[in-house]
Amino acid sequence: MDPKTYERYSRQILFNEIGEAGQERLLNSCAVMVGCGALGTALANLLVRAGVGKLRIIDRDFVEPSNLQRQTLFEESDAREALPKAVAAERRLSAINSGVAVEGIVADLGPQNAQELLAGFPLILDGTDNFETRFLLNDAAIHRNVPWIYAAVVASYGVTMTVRPGETACLACALELGGEDGTGTGGEDTCDTVGVLGAAAGVIAAIEAAEAIKLLTGKSEAGGGRLTSFDVWSGKFQSVRVARNPECRSCARRDLRYLEGEAQPHLTMCGRDSVQIHERRRRLDLAALAKRIAPTAGEVRENGFLLRFRVPPYEMTLFADGRAIIKGTREASVARSLYARYIGA
Ligand SMILES: [Zn+2]
Repeated sequence: MDPKTYERYSRQILFNEIGEAGQERLLNSCAVMVGCGALGTALANLLVRAGVGKLRIIDRDFVEPSNLQRQTLFEESDAREALPKAVAAERRLSAINSGVAVEGIVADLGPQNAQELLAGFPLILDGTDNFETRFLLNDAAIHRNVPWIYAAVVASYGVTMTVRPGETACLACALELGGEDGTGTGGEDTCDTVGVLGAAAGVIAAIEAAEAIKLLTGKSEAGGGRLTSFDVWSGKFQSVRVARNPECRSCARRDLRYLEGEAQPHLTMCGRDSVQIHERRRRLDLAALAKRIAPTAGEVRENGFLLRFRVPPYEMTLFADGRAIIKGTREASVARSLYARYIGA
């Protein structure tokens, strides 16, 4: 290792469990992270500073003012410009550590693109906000026989578990039996209904980062298969071992339905007051569309990554892959008709 690199990571190299050999391994490692919100930004910050060689970040969303309270990589200007989170995160992380290859990808991970987007990465990290995507990550990890780290946070509470296929319990072992309640989300509770503390995300992301560094430096014997939870408000900490389920749908019977399933539904709820339309898998020329829409819509803005405009009381955000998020409604029919009117049927 050259002296400058050694100096940069010296405090981590001094830590006995990593050492110079561990740091070398870390610098040559790579990981893919899905979702770049409160958990993802905190996690990516720690891993990029620690010197992971390459980090791919997949996120479907853009920065909004309400993200800034907890999503630690983003700034007010990112929200003003409505930058996609993957793009804003890549810029910030590259400035933090230019020695790391950070690759932001603006995409909605689903069964149709998971194999392609996750291929080649020996570790998958959970920064998502929904269980459908987490079960997809679980099934993809089982299919590809690579470890992944589950993490979730809501209100003041978070939970994480490292899954090593064939060695530890998987997410389906932990959650699909119904015995162990690993979600802690109480059914309907989400960040959009009961809020979330940046402090809770920070704790869980820190545990996830430590687990990732263990795996990437070859210390896989150090753990996995424990569901660890922490509530920063009550101070309650728990870490319980989860047994493998010999009948597990995913890791035992290899019924990988989330990975092999049909493409995701065309319309999904996305936050408290938004609908996302996935069905249009076509490239859009956002600049041309912006010109066409300008006479009939308000506050038309286009930044090369997305196009946003207002049709009171609604706000539409369009991505270049044809995806759209319609804010101001929970009605699929309203979202569909707005899409048809402004983009095409
Ligand atoms: Zn399992």
